[in-house]
Amino acid sequence: MRQRVRKGLLIYSALMFPMTFFLLSPFVIVLSASQGVLNGSAMIFGLLLMFSVIGSRLFCGWLCPGGTVQDYISVANNRHWNSKFKNLAKYIIWLMWFSFIVFLWIHNWPIKANFLYFMDINIQYLIIYGIVMSIIYLFTLMTGRRGMCHSLCWMAPFMVIGETIADFLHIPRFRLKAKPDACVSCGKCSRICPMGLNIAEMVKSGRVDNTECINCLECVDGCPKKAIGFGICQKQ
Ligand code: SF4
Ligand code: SF4
Repeated sequence: MRQRVRKGLLIYSALMFPMTFFLLSPFVIVLSASQGVLNGSAMIFGLLLMFSVIGSRLFCGWLCPGGTVQDYISVANNRHWNSKFKNLAKYIIWLMWFSFIVFLWIHNWPIKANFLYFMDINIQYLIIYGIVMSIIYLFTLMTGRRGMCHSLCWMAPFMVIGETIADFLHIPRFRLKAKPDACVSCGKCSRICPMGLNIAEMVKSGRVDNTECINCLECVDGCPKKAIGFGICQKQ
């Protein structure tokens, strides 16, 4: 039931994406920053960072429209796309992108807030939307399960920063909990993880913290031995 609700939310979010795109766009942030504007995307990303201090990456697993598209593309390419190097790529890209935005904000200071900046759905908007969707589609097709989340996502670093702040300050946040004694090493959790994480190995080690985990709870609901739980708690 929980996974049906999650998938329903993801599909709804994907259907709404043509309307919400300007609130989640890295390009529109750059465009607005170049004109001295703090737009809706910048505000939403800031809110996501704050939310992740408690909610970790629940947004990625339950609401991200780009994630939904990737989950459906993985039918065509279900390969695992998860390694330190592949995951590192998004932080390098993010750092360059975010540094450029900060540069533009400083250059155009004082900046003014305009939540609805670029909201008009016109031809320019549709072209940008089409380009971004094509990148998500093709990149995931070439890489594998949520390849975009692992290597290119411009939003994930904000949430990982939020998680890191929570752990550093010992703030309880949403996380998985392992029950290693209940695990029979069947490997089902790793097979169904949309992020391609080796969650079975993590459960056995008793440490299920991983910044790539999107808190979708597929592993929790799929485990036949109920060896994975979840809750809001501090880092152990
Ligand atoms: S599905 Fe459950 S029992 Fe099987 S490996 Fe994963 S945690 Fe262990
Ligand atoms: S480890 Fe579990 S909760 Fe995390 S992404 Fe994989 S299936 Fe989802």
